[in-house]
Order: sequence, then structure tokens, then C-alpha cells
Amino acid sequence: MPLLVMKFGGTSVADLGRIKNAALKVKREVERGYDVIVIVSAMSGKTNELVGWVEQTSPLFDAREYDAVVSSGENVTAGLMALTLQEMDIPARSWQGWQVPIQTTSAHSAARFVDIPRENIDAKFAEGFKVAVVAGFQGVSPEGRITTLGRGGSDTTAVAFAAAFGAERCDIYTDVDGVYTTDPRITSKARKLEKIAFEEMLELASLGAKVLQTRSVELAMRYKVRLRVLSSFEDTDENSGTLVCDEDEIMESKAVSGVAYSRDEAKMTLVKVQDRPGIAAAIFGPLAEAGVNVDMIVQNISELADGGAYTDMTFSCPTNQVMRAQKAMEDARASGAVNYSDLVVDTDVAKISVVGIGMRSHAGVAATMFKALAAENINIKVITTSEIKISVLVDRKYMELAVQALHDAFQLEKA
Ligand code: ASP
Ligand code: MG
Repeated sequence: MPLLVMKFGGTSVADLGRIKNAALKVKREVERGYDVIVIVSAMSGKTNELVGWVEQTSPLFDAREYDAVVSSGENVTAGLMALTLQEMDIPARSWQGWQVPIQTTSAHSAARFVDIPRENIDAKFAEGFKVAVVAGFQGVSPEGRITTLGRGGSDTTAVAFAAAFGAERCDIYTDVDGVYTTDPRITSKARKLEKIAFEEMLELASLGAKVLQTRSVELAMRYKVRLRVLSSFEDTDENSGTLVCDEDEIMESKAVSGVAYSRDEAKMTLVKVQDRPGIAAAIFGPLAEAGVNVDMIVQNISELADGGAYTDMTFSCPTNQVMRAQKAMEDARASGAVNYSDLVVDTDVAKISVVGIGMRSHAGVAATMFKALAAENINIKVITTSEIKISVLVDRKYMELAVQALHDAFQLEKA
């Protein structure tokens, strides 16, 4: 039997009516001849509520009990989905993570998959079950305790099952109808993409396009799982939504596929740092230890002053990590590991990125980007590039304008 994985997010199972609507979509695939593994999230808002209950009960909670509590939201929807399918005369049953068993590491609240043995579910399909409804987001540790995968983890459960069972495709049903060239709230010209390459999706996901958990895209890329993002609130068919796939499946590739932004970016500059071997390690080592996620890094050319060589070191990190970064740098200065004259913090910036695998073969992308920003009189504060991405930091007040200008400049409204 060909097999499909269908994942329904929290808003798609928010109440009994929506669960029924989702079940109808499963029924249609069963009627087409598929065996289906359905992965469900908790009803929307449920996981937040459970997390709140844990924190109120025990501020320094035991992570094992946190997982025991927050994993329960998915157990409810898995059971309800199985019942709904049974009411439609479809042979279905629910599976909690430990019953499969979904084996994970013991890193509670941030567990990773170790193995998903197929035997138990395969045996049920062989008995005539058509649907296995699996609770997303959870697993079991080697110690036999319930684990969870980190927020948004059901996407990753879905991809892992698609890989383990060799599914034809992994359909992620959600409250948007696909992946867009940029956020449609910023420009009405944003266009839904028919296809997007894993690598592009990975860049967009980590840049804050919150459609898919980043880890699920990493996993899909590694195991070449064809992933489709589509709406559970619309009538959908095999052409709906956006297919996230290997770049070989994408015929035309424009230089740029999408424009992403991140509002929560801060820029920090260490002024007049001694320029000597080991200085970057002396700065970024303590930042890493402090758990600061440094993104962009720029080191100025060295200048000679006061009989030594000095440089400025600029980096960006999420706004909510600025205090931690400041403390790490002040401690490093106090211990003598790093010298600098000043630490300048700018929390009023945004990061804008253009992403596209086509950049590898198209020249002039950076020039087009910078010209478009110049035409709007937007000053660029920091630039970084990778093989398929160019990012700039600009004043936050220009964020929307910059996204719109770049969307126009790369003609993303056109297919
Ligand atoms: N229910 C979990 C969360 O809200 C997992 C998920 O929905 O993907 O994070
Ligand atoms: Mg989600």
C-alpha cells in the first residue's frame, strides 16, 4: 500500500468540528487507496495552558514531569481523531509515543529522535487498520520516561514518520495555504510558491517564517522527504499548497525566491578591540558559553593607534539576548581576556534577507538588492552573505519598506 503522512496543527484540531473536518481529509486519502499515518498537535492554546500550569505549580520544575504534563495535549487529540475516523467507518486507532515506541534521547523538553521502529504500526496495517493516529511532539527516553521535542515539534514528528515509513509525501495541514514569497501582511503582492527547495525553506524557517519548525525541514532535507504545506480550512487537492522538495524537482529557479525579515535583532559593536591572534575566539567563546546566538559578524580593518593595532568587532544577536551578551563581554573585559573601549548596543534594527538557490548561478543579486534599498534611502548597517542568502541590518522603522522594495526589485509577484 502506498503510504501518506498527514499532520494537523493546533488550529486544525482546535475543536470537535475541526477535528471532523480534518478527518474528512484523511478519509479522502484512504478512499484513494493510501494507508495513512496522521500526526496531531494539541488543540490550539492547550500546550501553552499546560506549560502555564507547570510553571505555576513549580517554578523550578522537574523537566520529566513537565514533559509528562505538556505531552498530554496531543494524547487527547489523537484519541479524538481516532474516534472521529471510527465514526466514519474507517479502521483507525491512536498511538501515544511510547506505544510505537518513538525512541528519543533523554533531553527533556528538547529531545531528539533515536529510532522509530516500524513493527507495531506495520502489524496493525497488516491486520486491516487504514489509519494510525500518532500523538505528535512526544516520545520515550531510554529510561522509560515521556519526552517532548521542543515547541512546534509535531512537524518534526511528521517528517520523522514519513522518513521511517518511506511515505510518498508528508502533508502538513495548517492555517495558511502555503509558503509565500514574503509575509502577505507586509505586501499584498506576496505570492504563494508552488515549490520551494529544502535549503531555501531552511533559511526562511530559521529567519522567522514560522510555518514549519526548523528541525523538521532539516530532517526532511536529510532524508529527502517531500513535504507539502497546505490549508486545512480549504478544499484541497494534490496540487494545493507549497511543495518543499529537492532542488532537482524545481525547474526554473529565479535568483531570489523569497524575502524574509526578523524584527528581533540587535546589533552590538565592541569598539577599539586589540587586533591580535585569538581575539575573535576570546570574544565569541564567552558569548557562546552564555548561550548567545550570534548571527552576523563583521570585523573592521585594523587601524594603528596608541602603538598597537585595533579593530571594531560588530555582531548581531536576538534582542532578548542583549543583556546576556553585555554581561559576557563585561566579564571578559574584567578578566583581562578582551580589551575594548566601548560597547555600543543598537536594539532598533531589523534584519532583511533575500534567499534563493538561483543565487548560485545568477550574478548581480547583491547589486540589485543594494540599489533597491538605496532608492528608498535606506541605510545598510551590516551586510552578510552566504551561498543562497544575502542579509542586511537596517533601522527597524524601514523594515516594511525594505521588504516591499526588495519584493518589487526581484519581481517576486511574477511566477
Ligand atoms: N503542541 C506543541 C506546541 O504547541 C507541539 C506542536 O504543536 O507542534 O508546541
Ligand atoms: Mg506548528
